[in-house]
Amino acid sequence: MKNGSQYLQSLKTLKTKVYYKGQRLKNPYDHPAILPHVRTAGATYDLATDGKHDDIMTATSSLTGEKISRFTHLFWSVDDLVKKIAMLRLVGQETGTCFQRCVGLDAMNAIWSVTYDIDQAKGTDYHERFRKYLQKVQTEDLMVAGAMTDVKGDRSLPPWKQADPDLYVHIVERRDGGVVIRGAKTHITGVLNSHEILVMPTLGLPPEGADYAVTCAVPVDAPGVTLVFGRQTNDERKEEEGGIDCGTPFGVVGGECTILFEDVFVPGERVFMAGEGEFAGALVERFSSWHRANYGGCKAGNADVLLGATALLAEIHGTIANSTVKDKLTEMIHLMETNFAGAVGSSALATRLPSGNWLVDPLLANAVKQNVTRFVYQVARIAHDIGGGILSTLPADADFKNKEIGGLLEKYFAGKDGFSTTDKRKLCRYIEGMTSVATLVEALHGAGSPQAQRIVMLRQGNVPGKMRMARKVLGLAEPKAPERSKK
Ligand code: SF4
Repeated sequence: MKNGSQYLQSLKTLKTKVYYKGQRLKNPYDHPAILPHVRTAGATYDLATDGKHDDIMTATSSLTGEKISRFTHLFWSVDDLVKKIAMLRLVGQETGTCFQRCVGLDAMNAIWSVTYDIDQAKGTDYHERFRKYLQKVQTEDLMVAGAMTDVKGDRSLPPWKQADPDLYVHIVERRDGGVVIRGAKTHITGVLNSHEILVMPTLGLPPEGADYAVTCAVPVDAPGVTLVFGRQTNDERKEEEGGIDCGTPFGVVGGECTILFEDVFVPGERVFMAGEGEFAGALVERFSSWHRANYGGCKAGNADVLLGATALLAEIHGTIANSTVKDKLTEMIHLMETNFAGAVGSSALATRLPSGNWLVDPLLANAVKQNVTRFVYQVARIAHDIGGGILSTLPADADFKNKEIGGLLEKYFAGKDGFSTTDKRKLCRYIEGMTSVATLVEALHGAGSPQAQRIVMLRQGNVPGKMRMARKVLGLAEPKAPERSKK
């Protein structure tokens, strides 16, 4: 396994093509806008190798028998799934933000299971190809991004009816040795500081859409791959000296990029689905279930840090002993533990797939994510409520450093005796960043928008079965078949 600094060194050997604010970046991994996200992913490597968290952060590979990072491990049991949620909470607590690496983990598990299903049905050899690929990922401890969301163009039309056929990633050429893909994926978490990209379809596909049913692995620096790093709220602050106004050394959300695939050749051994559209829906659903359950772990970990920052700020404000502040902190605890309980519950009720790995309960997993779309906003509201207007009006760090007014600002922004104004400002900036538009929108739309979860919940919720339960409990008669009208 790699530690954080070995991970960083390994990234620097890549020739990744990255654009940000109109410029191609020469050294993307050192850029102040990107470094915080690299640092956060680095924490997943450091925590797995520090010897203190082996039970949660590492596992034994089913492919090699070696000790590996849990971020490259298949879910072989309920215990593996519960430990994954514990791992996400731990890393969330250590970084206070999105550490990006779980998308690839869930993609690996989804592809493992679906390649097995395709091979069983069609006699292909995708599963064996993926086994070999996964062994490389585990042995080299690679960070793998999962790229599912297409740019989608006109959403009222399927991929093959778009005015521009490239608005969903698709196969443009099939050669003896592999396939050529074209298109773009967007909102892709952590891809810039990943070694590999697992490309997956974004929806189930009928035979007309076969060319859009493509799952494959692409090195992040493969010829034809370009990453465009997205903008975030207050991102200019990351480039300011000192960094206090930036709020966190770990960045806000997952450093998302748009990936452009310009006729990228993918050799056959890296292709895991090429036209089997009838399996694309299962791939999307399994990936989404695992990833939606995750949010009960990572967001609880993030909210632990946010709650701590909010309580510390209340202490500096001198309001921590106030009963209404205590009650609001209790509400934050209730919300985040509800999320966590759902994630653990969906893992505890997992079922075994034919491929051998275990799938979380999809109904509970989707309920977790639906809660996250609300609770993260509610937790942010409480942090704003307790923190006060200073969260949005605090003067710049440069003003506090100004020779003429810095002393006055120190005097007038002082809090409770014994606490530094600098720490107070750091807390304000952290809360500001972690309750910003980028954070909230990520909680709303990451792993699928709220409506996507509601569709699954209605399907899984068994409304007819519950109608039968109500009939039985209340002793209601079965409805009579309507009589035909007599002439
Ligand atoms: Fe992992 Fe959470 Fe970030 Fe998704 S949002 S990649 S589960 S930390």
